[in-house]
Amino acid sequence: MADIIQAENSIKFLGTAGARFVMIKQLRSSGGTWLCLAGKNILLDPGPGSLVRATSSKPKLDPTKLDAIIITHKHLDHTGDLSVMIEAMTEGGFKKRGLLFGPGDALEDGKDPILLKYLRGFPEKTEIFKEGGEYRIGDVSFSTPVRHIHGVETYGLNFRVGGNDILSVITDTKYFEGIEKYYPGKVLIINVVRFEVDPSLDHLSIPEAKRIIEKAKPQKAVITHFGMKVVQAKPWEVAEAMTKELGIEVIAARDGMELSL
Ligand SMILES: [Zn+2]
Ligand SMILES: [Zn+2]
Repeated sequence: MADIIQAENSIKFLGTAGARFVMIKQLRSSGGTWLCLAGKNILLDPGPGSLVRATSSKPKLDPTKLDAIIITHKHLDHTGDLSVMIEAMTEGGFKKRGLLFGPGDALEDGKDPILLKYLRGFPEKTEIFKEGGEYRIGDVSFSTPVRHIHGVETYGLNFRVGGNDILSVITDTKYFEGIEKYYPGKVLIINVVRFEVDPSLDHLSIPEAKRIIEKAKPQKAVITHFGMKVVQAKPWEVAEAMTKELGIEVIAARDGMELSL
């Protein structure tokens, strides 16, 4: 694939692992997603392997050039490499730079925080998410429209550049009625851990993702963050069937996949 990460707005999937076992066994990588929006480098949910995947990616992604790190929630598959990526973004703490965003139960004291204390003062600024919150990274604005149902404090994201809703990210959540109304992005990324609906788990399944895409009507949908059964079902075939059924392009993310927005 061409080096489209150089394009003004693009996404690179450093990892597409969703559930515990897919991560532990590294059947898929768990490095998170690197966004390049309006010239800003933004790392989303740096799970275990994020540093290695970034620096070994082609073209190489330089973590010392990161402008911001965002975590949607504290679970390990989203934050395993957070501390090391903070160290990288701030060049070992020698440069106080970069922004950090995430929920309070992950980044504030006293609640089983996931960022090592000695790194807390390294970023230029840390912002704590709240429902309906609006944030800025240079010319990129983004919001956390609704709190998800997911055991720990969790928010999905909407990114806006030049007044356009270019990207929505529905991170881990249990399905809830009307969820699609919160995510208007032209490109819609959905974390789909389960193959079948299981109301006892706080994760989306393929049938629920289908329902969301059908109602949200993005220009393009990307499914990622796969659990074992989805991996076994060959996500690219699942995505192809969804595309045919919905008449909306659905792509299954692959480790290292790049997408131009
Ligand atoms: Zn997850
Ligand atoms: Zn989670």
